[in-house]
Amino acid sequence: MVTIFQILFALIIIILIILFVFKIKRENEIVPLPENWKELLHDYVKFYQQLDESEKKIFEERIEHFLSAVQITGANAVVEDLDRILIAAGAIIPVFYISDWQYINLHEILLYPGSFNADFEQAGSDRPIAGMVGTGAMQHVMIINKWQLRQGFINNHDAHNTAIHEFVHLIDKMDGTMDGVPEIILERKYVERWRSLMDATIQQMKTYGSDIDMYGATNPAEFFSVISEYFFEQPGQLKTNHPDVYEMLERIYKTGK
Ligand SMILES: [Zn+2]
Repeated sequence: MVTIFQILFALIIIILIILFVFKIKRENEIVPLPENWKELLHDYVKFYQQLDESEKKIFEERIEHFLSAVQITGANAVVEDLDRILIAAGAIIPVFYISDWQYINLHEILLYPGSFNADFEQAGSDRPIAGMVGTGAMQHVMIINKWQLRQGFINNHDAHNTAIHEFVHLIDKMDGTMDGVPEIILERKYVERWRSLMDATIQQMKTYGSDIDMYGATNPAEFFSVISEYFFEQPGQLKTNHPDVYEMLERIYKTGK
């Protein structure tokens, strides 16, 4: 028999659920884009500058969509308009030619001012303080260092861009493994070729040194992120120095083109 207490209990649960959902909704409230956001893109994002007018429009839509879906939270750092625009640019650049791309494995980005605490370093941060893609309890969270984020776009010819590096890890991870092979976008028939090309290049780096950042020789996952920074920042140089690698990256990133 249903007692008055049971009814009351059910009501309380329903109210709590409503409050909880409402709170989530409020936390995810869309922060409007700053008035000058297109100027920021134009001033800081080389990739955007090089697009034609219709592509710029698409890039802007993708930025808007990304920022409406992902929460960016400052952790002892103020999230400024420029930071939001640069993070979104770093997210869109690698997947620009893949029109239906969604970062389904990302819910929140934490912006750190300069360095991580020891706990996060142990969880596998990149090049001690630049950034990391979360695992375990930090699944679906990316941490990015504000200073490195900005340097990545200010120095746009040095083959280093932390935001691109971290988003490439997410793309790689989308198929379930972070192994340098983005099976979700790379056609199956090229997977083995890419895997052996990565291994061979890493071996070459270890033996002879390289113009590729040596951090890329850590493992195939780091190689893929490091070489992607190179691809997006200095494509001409990569094409000259490593034509096979360049060709495979074109296949990976420009599949939709
Ligand atoms: Zn990395």
